[in-house]
Amino acid sequence: MVTVKLKPLEEIVDSLSGFEKIFIVGCQLGSARCRNGGLREAYRVAGYLELKGFKVVGVKSPGGTCVLDRLDYSARSLLNEIKETADVVLSLACGAGTQLIAENVPIPVKTGVTTLFIGAEREGRYFEEYCIACGDCVISDTGGICPVARCPKSLVNGPCGGAIAGKCEVDPNLPCIWFKIAQRMEQIGELEKLRKRVPPKDYSLSVYPRKLVLEE
Ligand code: SF4
Ligand code: SF4
Repeated sequence: MVTVKLKPLEEIVDSLSGFEKIFIVGCQLGSARCRNGGLREAYRVAGYLELKGFKVVGVKSPGGTCVLDRLDYSARSLLNEIKETADVVLSLACGAGTQLIAENVPIPVKTGVTTLFIGAEREGRYFEEYCIACGDCVISDTGGICPVARCPKSLVNGPCGGAIAGKCEVDPNLPCIWFKIAQRMEQIGELEKLRKRVPPKDYSLSVYPRKLVLEE
C-alpha cells in the first residue's frame, strides 16, 4: 500500500495562508488505512482549521483518489462541488491522488500529507517499507524478500559484510536483510541459488516518469 504521513498541522495552516474557503479531500484507500489521511483525519484537520479562522466548506472523499480519473458520477459531482464552493483544496491523498485532483479543478490544490513508500502493514499500527517500485523486480531469486528496498545499500548480490550478529551495520535495529534472505532460501531448499551472480540492476527501468499501459 502507498503509505502517507500527515504533515504537522502548523505546516498545513501555513500552506493555506491567504485562502478562505477550504475543501478537504480525504482518501479512503491508502491514506485511511495509514490513519493519516482518510476521512477521520480530514475531519480532525477541519476542526483545527476552523479554530484557526478558516472556513471549511466541505470534507469528502471520492473513495480512492488515485482512480479519480475514471470520473464516474460521484467523482464528477465532488469536483463540481469543489469548484462551486472552495477557493483551495487541501488533499490528504497520496501524491498521485493529489495530482489527479489538481488536474481536474481550476483552483490551487495543497497537500496535507507526505507520501512515504510502498509499505507492509504490521499489527494494524505501523508500516514497513517493502518496495521502492524499482521497475526490475528480483524477489523471485531472493526468497520473496526484497533486498532493494530492505537493504539500506540496495545490494542485490549478497551482503556488504558489515553485519554484526545478523544486524544491519547501517541501522542495528534492523536485521541484515541478507541474513533473512539466506534463512528463507535455506527453508525453501534454494540456498544454492544464492551462489549465482545476479546481473547488475537495470536502473533505466526506474527512470521517471514511468507508465503502465493496459493491453486491450
Ligand atoms: S525488487 Fe524492486 S519491484 Fe521488487 S519488491 Fe524490490 S523494489 Fe519492489
Ligand atoms: S548489513 Fe546487510 S542489510 Fe545492512 S547494508 Fe549491509 S548488506 Fe545491507
